[in-house]
Amino acid sequence: MRPTALVTGASRGIGRAIAGILAQKGWPVCINYLEHHDAAKDLARRLQDQGREAMIYQADVADEKAVAAMVQSVQETLGPVELLVNNAGISHQGLFQDTESALWNRILAVNLTGARNAVQAVLPHMLEEKRGCIVNISSIWGLRGASCEVAYACSKAALIGLTRSLAMELAPSGIRVNCVAPGCIETDMVRVLGEETQAALVEETPLGRLGTPEDIAHAVSFFASEKASFLTGQVLTVDGGFIG
Ligand code: NAP
Repeated sequence: MRPTALVTGASRGIGRAIAGILAQKGWPVCINYLEHHDAAKDLARRLQDQGREAMIYQADVADEKAVAAMVQSVQETLGPVELLVNNAGISHQGLFQDTESALWNRILAVNLTGARNAVQAVLPHMLEEKRGCIVNISSIWGLRGASCEVAYACSKAALIGLTRSLAMELAPSGIRVNCVAPGCIETDMVRVLGEETQAALVEETPLGRLGTPEDIAHAVSFFASEKASFLTGQVLTVDGGFIG
């Protein structure tokens, strides 16, 4: 039983890269997912083949009881969660006035309350041990705002508030809370926008390309490392210069 990393939404995209890099750094990892069982299983197998410890767990982060059960299962299978990466997220494009309350509530439930649920579940152990690290994945849209993605941008702005507030509250308990705000990253979430929009996003990115999931994973890995032991409450923008 060793201190373990839990990465929510790790079957695909950014979360998958985060879980991979943390495993390479020696963390046993739990790969949480919602629907894509085969993708989660494939990642766990790959990591296990490399001699890493990994497990998968299906849970909707918006479901408080399911998240509590997941954290319990991770503790029993791999070890206590001492690194939590709140990465699971959903987005939706549409006008604000067309965003019905069910959709609004779901986006906030997954992107914001999901992080809250996971923090609540891992905190008892972290508080007892007086150590732990939490990294929230926000977005440049949470910093800048986003037309036609109001609910998403609100949820991501709130994650920054969660990060800064929790960092202050938990620092005396030895728990660090930081945030990574990605720019436009090459994942399914951006691929669904179509080639034309992706080309426009590349055009708007001063470094002239979409980010890779690994670009974000390296930032998370830094926050999780001893090198970041004096950093808390920070938001690191990883966006190729997009928001300047
Ligand atoms: P993605 O490719 O769509 O992958 C989303 C991941 O989250 C999948 O593993 C998915 O699981 C999981 N997930 C979705 N809803 C969930 C739920 N309710 N409970 C548990 N897991 C759930 O997205 P991505 O681009 O990698 O984004 C990852 C994070 O980065 C998100 O928070 C996103 O908002 C943020 N972000 C992304 C970008 C970007 O340009 N891509 C930019 C800024 C911020 P299944 O595979 O099982 O569906």
